[in-house]
Amino acid sequence: MVFKKVMRELERLKREQVAVPIRADERGYLDRECPAEACKFIFKVLIEDWTTRLKNASAHCPRCGHTAPDDHWWTTDQLKRARAEVGKVVRARIGNALQEDARAFNTTAPRSLISISMNVSGRKHSTTAALPVEAVNVLEQTLVCEKCGAGFAVLGSAFFCPCCGHNSVERMFDGALAKVRAKIDGLEVVRGALAATLGADEADTFCASTVENGLQDCVVAFQHLAERLYVSPAGAKPPRRNVFQSLDEGSELWRSAVGKGYDDWLSAKEYRRLDVLFQRRHLLAHREGLVDDKYVKNSGDVTYRPGQRIVVLPADVTEMVGLVEKLGTAIRAASTPTKP
Ligand SMILES: [Zn+2]
Ligand SMILES: [Zn+2]
Repeated sequence: MVFKKVMRELERLKREQVAVPIRADERGYLDRECPAEACKFIFKVLIEDWTTRLKNASAHCPRCGHTAPDDHWWTTDQLKRARAEVGKVVRARIGNALQEDARAFNTTAPRSLISISMNVSGRKHSTTAALPVEAVNVLEQTLVCEKCGAGFAVLGSAFFCPCCGHNSVERMFDGALAKVRAKIDGLEVVRGALAATLGADEADTFCASTVENGLQDCVVAFQHLAERLYVSPAGAKPPRRNVFQSLDEGSELWRSAVGKGYDDWLSAKEYRRLDVLFQRRHLLAHREGLVDDKYVKNSGDVTYRPGQRIVVLPADVTEMVGLVEKLGTAIRAASTPTKP
């Protein structure tokens, strides 16, 4: 029976492990990916910290706080390459006659079959490897955990230490806003570096999305700060998910909890403007930036007609950072740690 032999070979393979080297980048960072389906956030962590501090303990996603064992954080790209390696071994073992099966197996190889070894030296495989170093310097935020000292790096915002899970949301809020500012200030450096390697069109596209992401980073940073600081009044049910992405709803929550809302902390003009920017972020995140009737009606922004696409200028992002910072400072002051 031909299948018997194949089955036996597969059984044997299951007990073996195929070592696939995954290397850190030239600075010693290793790419990791959050295993939570809804998140999939990619970040970097110093390989030394990851291997010495975790030691079979759980790791934490810097973005969403998801916790999982330390061998669950391979990036999609790392797994793809590891599975391809395993597939090669399987194909060699069961022969050409079953290549079709091997190909199917290749895409569904269980993680238990793969032992991925780490190597600090060697070629780089990283999320930012394709970007010139001048651009990475502007775009990436490198962080050191204030509690355990682990080093990690992210594009965008982060809130939790990947090694110990410490959530320093207030410090991260300041860091995220400072990074958004730095990205806008360094935009021409990024454009120049990318234009030299990828061409002017690619550089422009990349910079436009960097500016748009600035709105997103501001909203995410503010949302996390508010979620962390907000305490529901006694008897009130906890706020719905993502409620702090809506300025009006968030403002009412604060009013019920501390007696003041955003209109007490921002001028009417500032509040209106921040509301427009929050709603533009919503369009970018959920409608590919296309203006709809709801946006025109709710925002009162008459500069766009439904069907047009939002244009985000660097100055819009700078303005938003200032307004979010002002609001963040206010909710920090309002939510004192001595609250009952
Ligand atoms: Zn996550
Ligand atoms: Zn830590």
